[in-house]
Order: sequence, then structure tokens, then C-alpha cells
Amino acid sequence: MAYEIRTYGDPVLKSTALEIQKIDDKLVRLTDEMFDIMYDAPGIGLAAPQIGVQKKLFVYDIGDGADVLINPEIVESSGEWIYEEGCLSIPGLYVEMIRPKEVLMRGINLAGEEVTVEADELLSRLFQHELDHLNGVLMFDRMTTDQRAEALAEYRRLHDGEAKAKRPDEPRVIKLK
Ligand code: ZN
Repeated sequence: MAYEIRTYGDPVLKSTALEIQKIDDKLVRLTDEMFDIMYDAPGIGLAAPQIGVQKKLFVYDIGDGADVLINPEIVESSGEWIYEEGCLSIPGLYVEMIRPKEVLMRGINLAGEEVTVEADELLSRLFQHELDHLNGVLMFDRMTTDQRAEALAEYRRLHDGEAKAKRPDEPRVIKLK
């Protein structure tokens, strides 16, 4: 089965993913495909619902090696950090957002072992963003009202064929307001 990245408007992105009960070869193959798609995009994280698979799992690599988290949850979070967040399902848009700076994440690895990861800044943001995908939450749901209006208008402009032809295809940054 060929997977592709689902983008904003696809209902699968609004659905809650299901807990994974069994780690088998099929699941390992799924993560292999997810890594291929993520690196190809390119991106630093990809959650299963983003390719239409309603399972609680995401893959990531922020440059420290490839990893998978299954049935992840945030155990603790602290601090605040502002970052221009992007999403493979909302291509071309970067949105400045405040979220906790540090999180302690618990999940299962591909070997079936429970793991906890202490994450700060970029990795912490990635974890929070990917976990949102598993709960059917997108960046649009996290924006301030003003940001959402601007982001939706920009997103339509970026992806509307006629308007797109008139302007360079550059990423747009939606500042915090
Ligand atoms: Zn995303």
C-alpha cells in the first residue's frame, strides 16, 4: 500500500488514533515507510494519522538519530518556549507558538520496552506536536484567534492554484499575536 501525507482538510487528521496492542512485523514495516516519507518530505517528525493510519505512533529524527514512540504520553511538562512550528500536513506555513519548554515523555519503543525521554526545546516541541496529531489536534487548533484567521488566509493563498502562480512559493511565518 502506498501511503501519502494527508493535508489540512482531510478528516483523518481530526480523528483520535487508537492504542497499539501488538508490535509485529507489520508495524515495523509501517515505521520503515513512515521514516521514508518523513525524510523524503523532508521533515523531522511524522505521526501515523498524517499518512491516514489511526494508530498511536510517531517517528522522529531531529539529527540525533531515528526513533519511534508508540502509545506516547506526556508525564510532566514545565516552562515556556516560543518557536515557529511547521507541519507536513500544513505545508508552507510556520506558526509562532508558545508551549512548555520541557516535557517528560513516556511511551513504548519498537522492542516493546517502556521508555521515558526527557526533552527540551526542539525535541520537546516535536513531541508535543506529534502527540497532538494522535489526538486529532492540528496547529490551527492551538493558534490564537487572530493567528488562525491570518494562517487560514495565508494557507488558502499558498495552495490556491491561481493565486499561487502570482507569488513565490515561499514559507509564510505567522507571528504570535
Ligand atoms: Zn504536524
